[in-house]
Amino acid sequence: MTTMEINAFYQQLFNEYFPGKHFTVQTEFYSTKTANHYVKRKGRYLHYKISQHFDSAPERILKILFLILSSKLFRLKLKPELKKEYHSYVENHIMPDIPPSKPRISKQYTAVGSVYNLNDIFDHINQIHFSGRIKRPLIAWSLHKSYNRLGFYSDDRALLVISRIFDNRKVPANVVEYLVYHEMLHIHFPAQKINGRRRIHTPEFRKIEHSFPDYKSINIWIKKNKHRL
Ligand SMILES: [Zn+2]
Repeated sequence: MTTMEINAFYQQLFNEYFPGKHFTVQTEFYSTKTANHYVKRKGRYLHYKISQHFDSAPERILKILFLILSSKLFRLKLKPELKKEYHSYVENHIMPDIPPSKPRISKQYTAVGSVYNLNDIFDHINQIHFSGRIKRPLIAWSLHKSYNRLGFYSDDRALLVISRIFDNRKVPANVVEYLVYHEMLHIHFPAQKINGRRRIHTPEFRKIEHSFPDYKSINIWIKKNKHRL
């Protein structure tokens, strides 16, 4: 959405959810490195400031965000599922694109796990799927176990990270290969701005991603087993 669109959308939601309250809603996407948002009341105005990283979020997520923010000002009962839906969207679609706040690359980062060596996997996938053309970034297992953010690629730091839960004998090699492959596609297809919106997983990206051997069964395996790792 553009700032104009979200401004109109939030005013409309406000009228719908709080028909008795007469406020003018002013909403904008603001420039930030975070996924934080604010709402402030000033006289008869409500100012919603939404992180710019959400300008390509689906309408439903923006609506849930409106409800979360508004519930801080007005009485509004929110179903826990809605918050969950929002947070899972952020983990999967927003955070991968936001570099962690500490810009320094930790010396603790290492590609060599107790089971899998991510550098070897990267080189292997690079040969098979990219004719060896992708320049190897710094590759590492995450410092902490992450169950939602399974991996990310930070363009700023040329850093590719995979959640260390997958450095486990129970994890089939092709699962780790697939996760590395997904992040490599982010190097191959840098985030694009289309009509002013940031697109990370473009249809083209998804199409190539789906062509990874056993794509479906790998994703089913991850869903079924990640919480046991
Ligand atoms: Zn991705």
